[in-house]
Amino acid sequence: VAERVVNIGSRILVFVRLRPMSKKEKEAGSRCCVRIVNKKEVYLTEFANENDYLRLKRLRGRHFTFDASFSDSTSQQEVYSTTTAELVEAVLQGRNGSVFCYGATGAGKTYTMLGTMENPGVMVLAIKDLFTKIRQRSCDGNHVVHLSYLEVYNETVRDLLSPGRPLVLREDKQQVLTQYRAYSTDEVMALLQRGNQNRTTEPTRANETSSRSHAILQVVVEYRVKDASMNIVNRVGKLSLIDLAGSERALATDQRTVRSIEGANINRSLLALSSCINALVEGKKHIPYRNSKLTQLLKDSLGGACNTAMIANISPCNLSFGQPEANEELHQAPESE
Ligand code: ADP
Ligand code: MG
Repeated sequence: VAERVVNIGSRILVFVRLRPMSKKEKEAGSRCCVRIVNKKEVYLTEFANENDYLRLKRLRGRHFTFDASFSDSTSQQEVYSTTTAELVEAVLQGRNGSVFCYGATGAGKTYTMLGTMENPGVMVLAIKDLFTKIRQRSCDGNHVVHLSYLEVYNETVRDLLSPGRPLVLREDKQQVLTQYRAYSTDEVMALLQRGNQNRTTEPTRANETSSRSHAILQVVVEYRVKDASMNIVNRVGKLSLIDLAGSERALATDQRTVRSIEGANINRSLLALSSCINALVEGKKHIPYRNSKLTQLLKDSLGGACNTAMIANISPCNLSFGQPEANEELHQAPESE
């Protein structure tokens, strides 16, 4: 994970967040193989044999550097302040931005984005902060905030706030979604939790939010300001906060060609996102936004004058090392910890 995202250009900030070891993982006797060295550096230990502790041997260690790295005791507020607060500020200047959580199933993406009632995540803290900042502006009556919460599953876009109908994306047209004027943090949390319950679940794992679905919260702020010649102009800023599908859905591409796995266990939107980010970083003229629903939705929030933050969520557990899919069972921790 680290190697893949750390190469992204300087305009895109890349963070890593380690989650705590779960009760199940501790009970299974697993080892922690990640250490946050300092505020930027992560040290990864590769063990020779995960199961035989007598012969457990440190194979080698590797360092990775990020714009910031968060240990397992980092608060939601600190993650928000470091990764997203500036983007919220920029939205109030009329700039677009996006924040992604990337990582294997069970690595902590939904915890980081949505969080819990007691520990609300980035989505909730961003909206709270946005409303606070708007109230502090003298002209707050000019601001209109719209929220929409969508899911991309199997290349179909659904409205998570009023589920039941698939949405068709059209070029150049703003989707008509359920848009809320939201006010309090609790209301927003309740809204998003309800939305998350509407996320598509995989048939084999009835109680699990699907590891294949992307959840996208889009916050649009519209306001009026006077320009230099005292004309009133409309400004719009948009922030997209994305809880991505499990990254294991894109890993297979290293070994096989895209064609041979199409229709299998692969996530077209996740692949397309990585192609777009690579094209942006390489400074290419053509960015292939049209290749997936996710990238179509984020077309105006990636590249150009936009700010992007990528949070790589990782598990500390040696059993997760290198084989994200083999250990999904361990990662499902429905009981609250
Ligand atoms: P993902 O969305 O990446 O599949 P989750 O966010 O559902 O993973 O996290 C898996 C489990 O780990 C959940 O039970 C979640 O509450 C817990 N968890 C994840 N990150 C943290 C954290 N930073 N602190 C405490 N618990 C966490
Ligand atoms: Mg999740």
